[in-house]
Amino acid sequence: MMGMESPSPESSGGPDSPSPDAPAGPDSPSPDSPSPDSPHRPDVIVIGGGLVGGALALALAADGAAVAVVEAAPAAAPAQPSFDARTLALTDNARRIFAGLGVWDDIAAHAEAILDIHISERGGCGMTHLSCADVGGDALGYVVPSRAVGQALHRRLREHPAVEFHCPATAENLRQGRAEVTVSVSTAADGSTASAAAAAESTVTLAAPLLALADGGRSKLGAQTVGRAAATAYRQCAIVCVVETDRAHRGRAFERFTAEGPLALLPHSARRYAVVWSSELKNADARMALSDDDFVDALQAAFGDRAGNFSRPTARARYPLEHGAAARPAGRRVVSIGNAAHRVHPVAGQGFNLGLRDAVALAAVVAQARRENRDLGCDAVLAQYAELRRRETARVGAFTDGLIRVFGNRAPAMRLVRNLGLAGLEFCPPAKRFLLRRTMGAAAMTELAALAGAR
Ligand SMILES: Cc1cc2nc3c(=O)[nH]c(=O)nc-3n(C[C@H](O)[C@H](O)[C@H](O)COP(=O)(O)OP(=O)(O)OC[C@H]3O[C@@H](n4cnc5c(N)ncnc54)[C@H](O)[C@@H]3O)c2cc1C
Repeated sequence: MMGMESPSPESSGGPDSPSPDAPAGPDSPSPDSPSPDSPHRPDVIVIGGGLVGGALALALAADGAAVAVVEAAPAAAPAQPSFDARTLALTDNARRIFAGLGVWDDIAAHAEAILDIHISERGGCGMTHLSCADVGGDALGYVVPSRAVGQALHRRLREHPAVEFHCPATAENLRQGRAEVTVSVSTAADGSTASAAAAAESTVTLAAPLLALADGGRSKLGAQTVGRAAATAYRQCAIVCVVETDRAHRGRAFERFTAEGPLALLPHSARRYAVVWSSELKNADARMALSDDDFVDALQAAFGDRAGNFSRPTARARYPLEHGAAARPAGRRVVSIGNAAHRVHPVAGQGFNLGLRDAVALAAVVAQARRENRDLGCDAVLAQYAELRRRETARVGAFTDGLIRVFGNRAPAMRLVRNLGLAGLEFCPPAKRFLLRRTMGAAAMTELAALAGAR
């Protein structure tokens, strides 16, 4: 990670009326009246109670909406795809959002503050250093195991009176009607995730005016409704683990650009760093297969000794890396957020932070629509959300992809330019502040605060 973190409505039918000509989803017989077998009709259905969907549900509930969340895997399940081996760098804005949702106290016990960030290129002389002093505040951000965030979110979802939490349960058969959207939710009798006919008796149908897809980068329901977010794979994957070191980290994070890709060390707990090592695909298998001692040697050789001598790596996990965004995150009564709508390289620790701001923005737009007694899933409301997120999504995507391209260019002239750039940044506080404001998501938060202020 490097720093931290209306419409051209595409459809604008009558102000709040369902657009009569809008095509149904591929498998959608367009139910026009509430489904008779449905006992539940929340204001919003959220598919995916992972990092982003969990936060969205709590944000909607905090504003008084009735929410149903469908999540396939409990927070502690080994196969939980959102709360896993990853360690997240959260911006200070994310901390404030979590505090507002009532989960930060739970998360804080596992969080390590980032006080400064050291950025350099391996083999180059340019470097820069971003610190709290550049922007004020107690910390640039916080490092938290994603599982700790997940457990805090799920605990709160289970106890919140406005949230109906279906977990473990799978959402299927999404149907976009003119007046509502419906989805089938299957839960196995034994509590494990059900699929297909085996658990027909435990299938319920949910119906609502609006459905949010927060089901991640492989969103099947998204592909059937709003369209799959176009994604381009990087020729890199990320290897993550935690290592010990013989030197206290003092809240310092490192981003070191290597010929293969960025290598980040995040302060984890006393004398430990979370490692995110972007590795070319051709080297990743071999690195994953190394013994712990050999892996530590390879890491030390790639990073150098600025953070001390590494030892005792935890189990490694690898993730494919890609970037892309849905051309349009909303379809009839359906909106996609988080990774279901966009994916970015983890180089700047932006992906979840961006998704969290999607969640806050959508909750704010829904709250406004509820106050004005409008149809929550109408085209105009969805267009307002899409426009609110359009610029920041594009900006973060371009910024993270640009970093990978610029630092991935091996031409000697580019190397010189990069090193001059890093050195120049070091001596230009306004440029540092600009960079930090952008990567901390401050500009987007100002837009969201303006929306909240309009309440
Ligand atoms: C190596 C790595 C490091 C990263 N580091 C950072 C970082 O430091 N900071 C940062 O901000 N971001 C970081 N990210 C990005 C971050 O992990 C993602 O942006 C985030 O996980 C996206 O969350 P999500 O909830 O949108 O999707 P997911 O995490 O994929 O969650 C989707 C959820 O939906 C559920 N689901 C899917 N389909 C269904 C269905 N049909 N029915 C019911 N449930 C369903 C899944 O079980 C899952 O819980 C990193 C990513 C990687 C790969």
